[in-house]
Amino acid sequence: MFAIILLAAITLHLSPSIESAAVTCKADDEEPWSYHGRNNGPSAWGERFPTCFGREQSPIAIKTKDTILDISAKKLLMKNYEIPITKATIVNNGHSVQITPRDNVARTIEIQGCTYTFQQLHFHWGSRYDRGSEHTLNDVRYALEAHFVHSSKDNAIAVVGVLFQAGTRNNAAFQPISNVLPCIPFKDNSVDLQSNLILNQLLPSNPASYFHYDGSLTTPGCSENVSWFVLKAINQIGEQQLTELRNLYSTTKNKANAACKIIDNFRPLQPLNGRTVFESPN
Ligand SMILES: [Zn+2]
Repeated sequence: MFAIILLAAITLHLSPSIESAAVTCKADDEEPWSYHGRNNGPSAWGERFPTCFGREQSPIAIKTKDTILDISAKKLLMKNYEIPITKATIVNNGHSVQITPRDNVARTIEIQGCTYTFQQLHFHWGSRYDRGSEHTLNDVRYALEAHFVHSSKDNAIAVVGVLFQAGTRNNAAFQPISNVLPCIPFKDNSVDLQSNLILNQLLPSNPASYFHYDGSLTTPGCSENVSWFVLKAINQIGEQQLTELRNLYSTTKNKANAACKIIDNFRPLQPLNGRTVFESPN
């Protein structure tokens, strides 16, 4: 018992200094926006990017008790998602890791007769297994959220969001990304994909059912032309793979210190402001 109290006392005593070290990255303050900067964090994004103060912002808390079942909603069909991506650029942009294919294959989704073509994939993750996703589902925040970003010829955007929980086993489909992370430790580092990436395999096993609502990009400029499709099924990613992501720096090499890591790169939840969240049939 005494040992537990002593341990608790030591933990309490130590935690403030550990936490303050974790949030002190001077270079974050020099960026137009950041997740953890003192003056340019999420609550201040709208000062420089006014749309971020808009009324249809993302992410949101999805609560199944408040969603409306849309019996006419079609299953989400991804076309050519099974074709391996053989050429792609993977960049550490200081906020995330982004994969942009360069193989001229049109991977598409169809929404109400409109075709949206896949542009890029990126991730949001946390410093711990119980945080990282941008959307929450029934008050649960998952370890990672993947965003499959698509655009139409009219520049409308459709994002498919996939939630991942942390597990002991690595996700084999994510491994082509894991493999190149050591090549892009710092902001603005980029590398070519070195083994084939198959988008289909990054989706959960039953990807057809989703929550749908109208929202925004979750990073500045926060434009509100985004149709969101957050998949109902949860995927799984390895703790080791999450650790590799958490080791990336948010800064260029010359500005990096141990506190400048890309972690908790998720925007806080935004108000619904009367919007409806629809749920597709299972
Ligand atoms: Zn995103």
